[in-house]
Amino acid sequence: MREPRFTTVLNSSKNALLTPANCILCDTNNSYNSMACVDCTKDLPWNTVYCNQCALPMDLLENTSDICSDCLQSSPLFSYSRTAFHYQFPIKQLIGAFKEQQNTLAGTLLSQCLVHQLLLDDSLLELPPEILIPVPSHKSSVHKRGYNPAEVVAQKIGKGLSIPVAEHWILKQKKSPKNQKSLPAPQRKLNLQQAFTLSAQGLEQLHKFYRVAIIDDVMTTGSTANAMASLLLGAGVREVIVWAIARTP
Ligand SMILES: [Zn+2]
Ligand SMILES: [Zn+2]
Repeated sequence: MREPRFTTVLNSSKNALLTPANCILCDTNNSYNSMACVDCTKDLPWNTVYCNQCALPMDLLENTSDICSDCLQSSPLFSYSRTAFHYQFPIKQLIGAFKEQQNTLAGTLLSQCLVHQLLLDDSLLELPPEILIPVPSHKSSVHKRGYNPAEVVAQKIGKGLSIPVAEHWILKQKKSPKNQKSLPAPQRKLNLQQAFTLSAQGLEQLHKFYRVAIIDDVMTTGSTANAMASLLLGAGVREVIVWAIARTP
């Protein structure tokens, strides 16, 4: 039996992940020139069997179609999604450290893992998006946090895959209400549609792009991506895809 992993995340204090000479997940000496050791990287909850359209983790044995029942019933506006991980320990804790504690090492590791996962995908190499658009945060959240996590991820993915990032082409008008999840689906959809708007620059530029990727940290139901896809397609983009660090079950 292998020794327990992710001890650094388990003991996560604000600065626990700030020792880049060692593996940032188990704090053992990391002889490889990467942020996490080989054993930890292997043990992470990679999302390898998923709905092709919304990246929902699926059971390999029960899997008769590569599209989940929700997407079969009501097809999202984006054509496919890829996420690196299941949103569970220790990814949940790493994303928390990145989003709530300004832990940039955690953000870098997670983004590197997503780049790694995307590079394994043949369809990406054949038909890459021409531009990356991060899910915008409301300006009060950006002010409070100092940055928009999705934008940081988009910059790192863009650098890793040599794809430009468009910031502020889509703006978030309204803060998401705290009780959003408890609202009936049609109301939630309407709130989301009203939450986003195109900036003047977005309106001017977007029709020049055929394929655009929305970038997010955590993909939950896909309804945020769907609301953004609706705006992008309306602006003249021909195909929208979604890339995120993690997907909730
Ligand atoms: Zn390790
Ligand atoms: Zn699906």
